Amino acid sequence: MSSNDYTPLWQELGLDLDNHAGLLGVLSDAYRGIYLAQANRPRGMAYFDFVISEVHGLRIKEIYEAKRAGRKVVGGFCVYVPEEVVLAADGICIGLCAGAEVGTAEAERFIPRNSCALIKAFMGFKLAGLCPYVELTDLIVGETTCDGKKKAYEIFDELTGKVHVMELPHMKGPAGKRLWLGEVARFRETMEKLTGAPLTLEGLRHGVAVVNAKRRALQRLSRLREADPAPLSGLDALLVNQVSFYDDPVRFTAKTNELCDELEERVAAGVGVTAKGAPRLLVSGSPMAIPNWKVHAIVEGSGGVVVGEESCIGERNFRDLADEDFVTVEEGLMKIAERSLTIDCACFTPNDERPGNIAALCERLRADGIIHYALQFCTPYLVEAYKVETSLAGVPFLRIETDYSMEDFGQLKTRLEAFIEMLR
Ligand code: SF4
Ligand code: SF4
Repeated sequence: MSSNDYTPLWQELGLDLDNHAGLLGVLSDAYRGIYLAQANRPRGMAYFDFVISEVHGLRIKEIYEAKRAGRKVVGGFCVYVPEEVVLAADGICIGLCAGAEVGTAEAERFIPRNSCALIKAFMGFKLAGLCPYVELTDLIVGETTCDGKKKAYEIFDELTGKVHVMELPHMKGPAGKRLWLGEVARFRETMEKLTGAPLTLEGLRHGVAVVNAKRRALQRLSRLREADPAPLSGLDALLVNQVSFYDDPVRFTAKTNELCDELEERVAAGVGVTAKGAPRLLVSGSPMAIPNWKVHAIVEGSGGVVVGEESCIGERNFRDLADEDFVTVEEGLMKIAERSLTIDCACFTPNDERPGNIAALCERLRADGIIHYALQFCTPYLVEAYKVETSLAGVPFLRIETDYSMEDFGQLKTRLEAFIEMLR
């Protein structure tokens, strides 16, 4: 995808060059067919197109050079991993979830066939020698959100030797809060060991400010999607949210705000990516890592527009900010821990906040219907769909259960087209 030759770097990182070339070829074709073929895109998306074209190129080189200059690289799989603490230690934090069906056969040597696509993909990318990000990490942070991930991290640690697991409680009562606060403090110690330097108050304030600024930019983008006609496609918004897990956070925030400036002009002028009145959909459920663009592509190819993602690649990642008002490192860590416990992941029981949050989001975005998206074998979201659907009685609701393959593309298209038709 990139015009530069990064082969020596990929070789040094130990990637399987043949597999890797195949992956980039597929990614590049998919991107051209899905993204670049869209009409009437804002100019500001050019930056995000560039990031994708360099996702295994310039960004890898940048991280590689930062690492040589002494900075530590931390990979994570979940929005509970406190990015603020990584930044406070002058580290680089990146999302490692992979959204493509790659390395499945290799992954199935270690984990059952009936594992969710996300777990299979992160195992598969590593085993097939495809992920330069995993190779660049000094530390990989797992969490006990679901049983599949929890057990897969044990194997991932055998394969990489650098996994640190944070124990996330599954209930948010006082005991759960104490446990999580202790885990955030333990993570601080791990970071201090990794960098050889104590975490400072100034560092933590900086970390919180940088991540909050990123969240504010993403909130702004989300609010602009309230307009009818929508000034930005759901595909493009999804991409911005996906890139937020890879890119340098300060640069990302500036570019997202630039995009928002342009979108504000579009909204004022009544310019949209679809005709006014196009059916507006909210996608809710499991996260969608790059390059999982299937559902958005089908919806927007069928005349609908996705106006929001109730997902960790979406609202759940930026809905709440951390309180920046703290005077000690310990207090700062507590504020970070408290913020992350506002996240309404389906791994919690009970998870009563989520249906209310979805209803509020649906109203704000003026969504006509909800697509509940869960990965096959993702028990938390598949089971919680019932509660979400029943609590939202009256809002048109479609449950989807899928994976990263293209096998069900035709069947999904038929169902989504019929749903969108019903909303017209
Ligand atoms: S859905 Fe839950 S487990 Fe997955 S990234 Fe979000 S918070 Fe973490
Ligand atoms: S998608 Fe579901 S099953 Fe898969 S890792 Fe996330 S929570 Fe676990």
